[in-house]
Amino acid sequence: MIEIDGSEGEGGGQVLRTALTLSMITGQPFRIVRIRARRIKPGLMRQHLAAVQAAAAISGAEVTGAQIGSTELLFQPQAIRGGDYTFAIGSAGSCTLVLQTILPALLFAPVASTVRISGGTHNPLAPPAPFLQRAYLPVLHQMGADVVLDVERVGFYPAGGGVLVARVAPCAGLAPVELCERGARSAGYAESVIAGVPLDVATRELEGVSSGLGWTGDDLRVVRLAPEYGPGNVLLATIVYEHVTAVFAGFGEKSVRAEAVAKALVGRVRRYIASGAVADEYLADQLMLPFALAGGGTFTVDKVSQHALTNASIIERFLPVRFAFTQHGARSTCAVTSACPVSSAQAAE
Ligand code: ATP
Repeated sequence: MIEIDGSEGEGGGQVLRTALTLSMITGQPFRIVRIRARRIKPGLMRQHLAAVQAAAAISGAEVTGAQIGSTELLFQPQAIRGGDYTFAIGSAGSCTLVLQTILPALLFAPVASTVRISGGTHNPLAPPAPFLQRAYLPVLHQMGADVVLDVERVGFYPAGGGVLVARVAPCAGLAPVELCERGARSAGYAESVIAGVPLDVATRELEGVSSGLGWTGDDLRVVRLAPEYGPGNVLLATIVYEHVTAVFAGFGEKSVRAEAVAKALVGRVRRYIASGAVADEYLADQLMLPFALAGGGTFTVDKVSQHALTNASIIERFLPVRFAFTQHGARSTCAVTSACPVSSAQAAE
């Protein structure tokens, strides 16, 4: 039994999600106490509870403590089962974080899976769905995974009502990759997605991106959704390189000016471009677990966050891997080394 203190390091929801994923894949049960102890409202919120329930459904796990507000959980998985699943978060909680929890496990299922998750698809403080589609999944594909993600309906926080559908093929094992250089840039574009929000918000955000990054014409796009999808607004910047696609998101809020949303986004994009790294801090959060499952590999990152360091220490509790972060100028290298990569045969034992 692996014992985890949820207040460790950054002390947020990632500790729980990473433990769930790796418990399913390795078959090792775990007990976590002080769940999300460093958050204003500690314990399981709807998104975390939905992740626990989804993990339990696909691994036939016995679970104790799966209630809203719970600060302790015991999770004892059995073998991972592929198939068709539908999970409803029941609020605007992030569908992408529930998917983040179960997707790596479904790669190791004996049969293909289709997972439908309802809730928020474009939430602040979580990867928006286009981030997974454009930035995360292409790296997983390079590692040998076959996953398709569709947004059936956009759902913004706080209204929710979004639907994601992921199709996951079984995978014999992930292959290590070296992602140290981005390669040549082939495109860069910004999208202001608005639903039930004045058009003027989108045009001002795009003007801010234009003056900050020098992007013009067709590289500045307004995506107008029907008002019933909102109210909601997200500003996305996407840069396509030969070896990676980077996606940055800024969320419009009632009390925040469109210019401020654009300025914050431009600052992050500029820092990323100047760093020369492959991954920004959020893509690094997504890549660490698949790299550990592949048993090795290296990527460069613009900022090593406390979130990443905490995630590394949880992954090291479940898998025989070591993470080493080394800074070189404006970027760092994240190198993963392992005694043995995980294969689907092992995961099924
Ligand atoms: P809490 O922190 O309240 O427990 P949480 O469950 O949402 O909430 P975190 O531990 O903060 O958990 O994890 C948030 C996840 O969302 C991380 O994987 C992080 O990389 C990702 N993320 C946050 N903001 C963005 C963003 N703008 N773009 C992409 N990914 C993001």
